[in-house]
Amino acid sequence: MKKKRIVILGSTGSIGRSALDVIGRYPDRFEVAGLAAFSSIETIAKQINTFRPVAAALYNEEAAEGLARKTGMPVWGGMDGLCKIARLEEADFVISAISGAAGLLPTLAAIRAGKDVGLANKEVLVTAGAFVMDEARRYGVKMLPIDSEHSAVFQCMERGGHGLNRVKNIILTASGGPFFGKNRKYLATVKAADALKHPNWEMGRKITIDSATLMNKGLEVIEACHLFGVGHDKVKVLVHPQSIIHSMVEFVDGSIISQLSKPDMRSPIAYALSYPDRLEDVIPQLDLTAISGLTFAHPDLETFPCLAYAYKALGAGGTATAVLNAANEVAVAAFLEGGIGFNDIPAVIEEVMSAHPPRPVSSEHDALEADKGARAAAHSVIKRRKKV
Ligand code: NDP
Ligand code: MG
Repeated sequence: MKKKRIVILGSTGSIGRSALDVIGRYPDRFEVAGLAAFSSIETIAKQINTFRPVAAALYNEEAAEGLARKTGMPVWGGMDGLCKIARLEEADFVISAISGAAGLLPTLAAIRAGKDVGLANKEVLVTAGAFVMDEARRYGVKMLPIDSEHSAVFQCMERGGHGLNRVKNIILTASGGPFFGKNRKYLATVKAADALKHPNWEMGRKITIDSATLMNKGLEVIEACHLFGVGHDKVKVLVHPQSIIHSMVEFVDGSIISQLSKPDMRSPIAYALSYPDRLEDVIPQLDLTAISGLTFAHPDLETFPCLAYAYKALGAGGTATAVLNAANEVAVAAFLEGGIGFNDIPAVIEEVMSAHPPRPVSSEHDALEADKGARAAAHSVIKRRKKV
């Protein structure tokens, strides 16, 4: 079998490292063609040494020059460099695992070069989902989900086998994060270190905070609408603290199909890489008798309003979801730096969203323009809140 040649955008991050772990364990199936990150020279240099890609890219130009000197290989810098590696001739498949809207242009570059995409970066679809999915159809490329919930839905849909008109609801499960069951008074006291302690998943800092605010689930609702082509009235969320059922699809006859496994991102990463095949022994077996119970609850939208804002942005359409995402990225960064409190995250997003009437998105530029405006607005809201 011909080896699949892979570019990883965001190779030094949590998803990138897990992807390399999978690739390294199935050397007869996969090889690394290119690696890209922001500026983590030491980590990417080690990865280059192990996986021998043909090229690398770093967003930070200075770091790119340093890495080129260190390794003697082609290393491209800046956003152009990320887009260039996404189009790499020697690659068939691109894993999109940069965090945030910074992943939009490189992901589009991969699509337009005809590469199939394994999508971890949900912010790409939140920022410009309808446009990106249209481009994927236009260029005839597959968008394979890596986000665990969407991988689960994708697998359940395949088993359902009757097309979208037989789907009643997509049910995304949410762990609830570290603050499940808490109230707003308690949340007013939490610090970044508390929010970074996720009960079930080891992830990057931004997504870990998103999991604590439930914005991660909001972004995933938007991601699901675009990936599966359904309206937001068909995407529901249930809190399931054990993170064993990764999501479900309810069909019109009342039947529900779900996908279960231990919470380990190597499972959805491997499925995206090997689809439609399955690799052997990707993650340890799930012992169902060792699970004390599987429980479910409705999300608390009053305490965690970010999820409600995501539905609101979907309803508003156009640039509204790009604005939601950009305001969230800025607010989460400010929370991580200790500049604002946990409850300020939704407050900043709400204020930025209500000042931005949505406009249509007919190109990446429309989405990025909205993203830029929302970032500036979020910074000024935060500055004002700090003064109060
Ligand atoms: P991390 O923070 O662990 O890693 C982010 C990666 O992106 C790093 O390689 C980082 O490079 C790189 N990066 C960040 N900004 C830029 C930029 N401007 N240009 C180039 N590279 C950049 O994040 P995760 O791996 O946790 O998440 C990645 C994406 O996958 C996110 O969109 C997240 O929502 C999604 N996801 C993650 C899951 C998880 O379990 N972690 C689960 C499902 C989805 P550097 O090291 O140099 O800073
Ligand atoms: Mg997820």
